[in-house]
Order: sequence, then structure tokens, then C-alpha cells
Amino acid sequence: MLAKQYSDALSDRLYPDLFRPVPGRVLRLPVHGSIAVACTIAIVDAHLGLLFKFALAIIIGLSFTCMGLLGHEILHGSVVERLWLRRVLAAFCVAPLGIGAAFWTIWHNLHHANTQHPARDPDTWGTIDGNPQDRTMRFLRRFTNSRTPLFPFLLAVGVTAHAAALLLCIQKQMTRKQRIATLTEFLVVWLFWLSTGFWLGWWNFSFFFVIPLLLANLIVNSFVVTQHFLNPLDETGDPLATSLTVTTNIWIERLLLNFNYHTEHHLFPCMSPKYAPRVAQLLKETFPDQYHQLAHRSALLAVWRTPRVYHDRVKLVDMDTAMPSTALWATASKRTPRWGCPLMAGL
Ligand SMILES: [Zn+2]
Ligand SMILES: [Zn+2]
Repeated sequence: MLAKQYSDALSDRLYPDLFRPVPGRVLRLPVHGSIAVACTIAIVDAHLGLLFKFALAIIIGLSFTCMGLLGHEILHGSVVERLWLRRVLAAFCVAPLGIGAAFWTIWHNLHHANTQHPARDPDTWGTIDGNPQDRTMRFLRRFTNSRTPLFPFLLAVGVTAHAAALLLCIQKQMTRKQRIATLTEFLVVWLFWLSTGFWLGWWNFSFFFVIPLLLANLIVNSFVVTQHFLNPLDETGDPLATSLTVTTNIWIERLLLNFNYHTEHHLFPCMSPKYAPRVAQLLKETFPDQYHQLAHRSALLAVWRTPRVYHDRVKLVDMDTAMPSTALWATASKRTPRWGCPLMAGL
């Protein structure tokens, strides 16, 4: 089904208020920005021991994570309406991940418009017969078999490294204006971070930037990899077939701005994730067979246990042996998901 068909089916039960921006969420930016700056000052000036510095690095990493996720919301227009304001605020939010707001917009629009399309979604590993444009993805595909020991490493660098590689890879698809904007912001962001290293010392830099960056990547990616990698490839844009919502502790969900409600986000990208739990309930009731939800830990384990390259629409493949793997959901849980799963079809 198309997104419009789902939203038409829910229209009687969706209030117009759900689609209004929620400007109050922007307050998280000064809060997390101040936390990151205060911890950085303490790391540089307070003559702390290694353990204290590491603890502060973890706090900065959590703030980087929340800022990145807020930037995602802002760029979708669910926080503030004015375009210039979205770009300015989001630029501050995504800079800690080493990414520029203009590029994030182009990249993320490609993902939303082509979710799980084997050739067009920049965030899928594609089929064994496919040849990803992104050279880095092409290279990394050989390391994405099941139970790869590189899994934690891929999580810890994935967002930032993938963004940098993709920025170069899709230059030809951009207009001249987009090329100038994306490359300029990339240079500004990285020159800023590197200059802080020169200024405040590289040892401190590893605590106020490198460790937080790795942690933010790890947290964001631990959700990102579960949101589509267990779903089938699809060329029709069915948001319920191509996305997975994962659940975790409610306080973690709130801290991470309900980023885990990804099916709801793909169905209504401009809706504030604040309302996603309400939409999740409606989807569960209205489309019990099409809507998928899994505990975050189980989904992450399932991603680790399965290869990432697709053999066909619903099966994965081991890149070393070229043997089709079990269907995606078979390793998700020892129990069959009680809500049924179209991915089991054809087994
Ligand atoms: Zn997505
Ligand atoms: Zn999005």
C-alpha cells in the first residue's frame, strides 16, 4: 500500500494538531549545547583524572546524539516552519556528527523518497547483483556477512563515515549550487572541529570530540540499522513494509525524541515524533498484519546475526559463499512475531 492509502484509512482518527510543528522541542538545542560546552571546559581546564574526563566524554556523546536527532526533526519541518530558521538551527544540531545541514537534507530526502529501493536508497546495501554507486559501500559489502566482528566498529563510525563517502559519491547528481553548499559546509564543520583540536590540545580533543562522536554514531546507528535492514527491498514505497519500529525503555525513547518510531516517521515525515506513539497505536489496531514492531535489543541482535546484502527482495546473502540466507525475520527472534509478518511469505 502507498503512504496515502494508509493515511486515508487513518484520517478519521488523526487530529490536524498532530501535523503542526512543535517549537518547544527546539529548547533541547541550547540545553544539550550548554552541556557539551560545559563538559568541554571541564575537560580542558579542570585538571581532571582520566576516568572523570571519560565520564564527561560520555555525557557530551549523549548530547551530540540528542542534537543530531533534533536536527533530523528540524530539517523535516516538524519543529519550526521557516526554512531559513530550520537550516540555521539544524546546522548547529548536526555539526557535532561532522555533517552539514544542506547535505543531510539531500541525503535524507533521497532515503525517504526511495526507501528500500535496491538501487536508489543510499542507505541500503543493495542486492548481490547490484553495484552501489558509493565506492565505500561497495568495499564494505564484503565485511557485512552475518556475525561480523566489525559490527561495533561499523556502528561507531557509520553515520559520519557514510555521510562523508556519500557526499563525494553523489556530487555528480547535485546542482552546482548544491555542490558548493555541501562542500563548503563540510569544510567549515571539519575546520571548526580540527581548529578546536589545535587550540585546546589533541589529548583533550579525543575526550570532547572523538569519543563523543563515536558514542553518538554508536547510539544513532544502533537504531538506524534496525529501522530498515530487517525489512524487504521494495520499489513501491510502502512505508509499513519497508520500515520497522523498535521499542525500548520509555525514558530512553523520550531522551532520544521517539526516534525509534520509524515506521510512523516514514508514513508521516513532517509529523513531530512527539505524536508517534499515538500513531503507532492506531497502526497496530488498524493494520495488525502489516505493521511491525520489535524490541530494540532483539532487532539489533537480528541485524548482527544476518548478512546485509540482499539475494532477492526478501532473502539475504552471504557475500563469501553467495548462499542465500534464511529470511530476514527468521533470526529476529526464536519466536514467530505474534503479529505475523509478510516477510515470511515465500519461504
Ligand atoms: Zn528511514
Ligand atoms: Zn527522516
